[in-house]
Amino acid sequence: MESILALTFDEFKDRIVDLLVPRYRAAQIYEWIFQRGATTFDEMTNLPVAFRQELSKLYKFPKLEVSHLNSLDGTKKFQFMLEDGHIIESVWMPEEKRNTLCVSSQVGCAMKCAFCVTGAIGFKRNLTAEEIAMQVWAIKCVEKLPLTNVVYMGMGEPLLNIDHVVRSIELLTDKIGIAVGKRRITVSTVGIVPKIREFVAKTDVKLAVSLTGTNNIDRDHWMPINKSHNLEKLTSELKSIPWAEGRKITFEVVMIKDKTDSENQARELAKLLQGIPSKVNLIPYNENSFFPQLKTPSPEKIEKYKQVLLSQGVFAMIRLNRGADIMGACGQLAGQSLGQNA
Ligand code: SF4
Repeated sequence: MESILALTFDEFKDRIVDLLVPRYRAAQIYEWIFQRGATTFDEMTNLPVAFRQELSKLYKFPKLEVSHLNSLDGTKKFQFMLEDGHIIESVWMPEEKRNTLCVSSQVGCAMKCAFCVTGAIGFKRNLTAEEIAMQVWAIKCVEKLPLTNVVYMGMGEPLLNIDHVVRSIELLTDKIGIAVGKRRITVSTVGIVPKIREFVAKTDVKLAVSLTGTNNIDRDHWMPINKSHNLEKLTSELKSIPWAEGRKITFEVVMIKDKTDSENQARELAKLLQGIPSKVNLIPYNENSFFPQLKTPSPEKIEKYKQVLLSQGVFAMIRLNRGADIMGACGQLAGQSLGQNA
């Protein structure tokens, strides 16, 4: 049976006509699902009972969140159990001017970044477009938490699930559906070089590239993808893409004490980004029990790194540490546990 979240409004309208009911019924159903947060057809009391029963035979609602955890800083981590028993996580982060949801694009991840708990799980499977969209629908439309931005920075490497990710963006940006603005969506990749051009051609949401290592020796260690898609290949591909006026690529650097936080590395990064329309997000490492040897640098050290970038003409920002106490921070999403094997 098909998920009710798998279709855009226009596609659903056409299906409704096939059922020999008036088109306005589609708008009623969508209002129930996306404005009122209905999770069953039974709740749609302005539809005839027989029609509701027919819809239930054709479409299913996704299973919803199984649990959530609240951080002291207001961050909430949601866990969803999928139909096959796998668990994925999404993290909602309220800030003064925006409320961001970090979504997963795969169950687990094959990229094995050396600082990331998700990478330690290994890869289980790709999420479907509706499983990705479901995370946003559940938080925005059902839980009714305020939501302005969506980042694909949860479990998984989005560009290795490119078709479902691109389709999920169509579902998220459907104005009669989940209705997130295109400019409010960012997809973050480790830099799968052969997929970047394809992705940029298929969608114009924002792109972020996770670097962390600023030379090939360091990056080979932190992000093993570098062994096949090294910094030269990555930056030369990014330089050769004709970016739209004003479009900037965000580069992410995980700041790890005495490993990735030196002023020399900041200078190396500035040099690397020459000729690419870019800005840099510095993400202080979230200490955790899986990698006890990795520590967060002092705020002063991170600030110095940022100042070096600014002095070289590279715009840089320090991201706040969010949700670390609920394992909801960057690189800490692991499903139920490292041992989940559903
Ligand atoms: S940082 Fe992202 S790409 Fe790297 S292992 Fe973790 S989830 Fe995968």
